[in-house]
Amino acid sequence: MHPPVLDLANTRILVSNDDGIHAPGIKVLEKVARALSKDVWVVAPETEQSAAGHSLTIRRPLRLRQVSRRRYAVDGTPTDAVLLGINHLLRDKKPTLVLSGVNRGGNLGEDVTYSGTVAAAMEATILGVPAIAFSQYYGPDHPIRWSTAEHWAPEIIRRVTRVGWGRNVLINVNFPDVAADKVSGVEITRQGKRKIGDELTERLDPRGEPYIWIGAQRAEERSTRGTDIEAVVRGAVSVSPLCVDLTDQHTMASLATVFAEG
Ligand code: MN
Repeated sequence: MHPPVLDLANTRILVSNDDGIHAPGIKVLEKVARALSKDVWVVAPETEQSAAGHSLTIRRPLRLRQVSRRRYAVDGTPTDAVLLGINHLLRDKKPTLVLSGVNRGGNLGEDVTYSGTVAAAMEATILGVPAIAFSQYYGPDHPIRWSTAEHWAPEIIRRVTRVGWGRNVLINVNFPDVAADKVSGVEITRQGKRKIGDELTERLDPRGEPYIWIGAQRAEERSTRGTDIEAVVRGAVSVSPLCVDLTDQHTMASLATVFAEG
């Protein structure tokens, strides 16, 4: 188990994301982190890395660029940024908490398998540092409500760090697309069903060559109670513990039975 974080004010916090060092969401999360602790560092990708998943750059060198005091950009993926942050930049005094996000858009259901935001938290978890991923869900008809994430994130961080969680586990938080004072509450949920790429756009490029663009359209199961997607669509903050160990114990047991038969 990761022990509880008893003293947030003296906790070294590493902030990262997948939308890039200049994204509005990381500014929100950095502000939240700085209000909790004086020891906050930012290491994030130079450019947008959404849907980069847990990819690691191993076939070319990486450059770590100091942007300003305690703020660095890496010309790689979210996983690269967290790895360099923990094992290189802050190796002499490692962070004791990693916060990833706030992502522009929800990371719900199967999104978590493509998400660079979740992968940054996953990398920290694998390196032994407890981590929380944050995403702000939004609809098409109005600007993204960063103020909802900013309002609710501190309380979520304070509450979840009060208890320890498994060393194989990261916390995935999604804020709903409602004003901060309209949020119905905080709910502990499980991963639901939400698959990106339901819509493919096929067109010709300016040189007459065909291309296919994977659309943002998602096939969603919005009505299953207890899931992240259902809670967020209904206007609640969703908090899901995700396990990095992908083994399915139930199938493991049934397969063992099959092979025991000889
Ligand atoms: Mn993103």
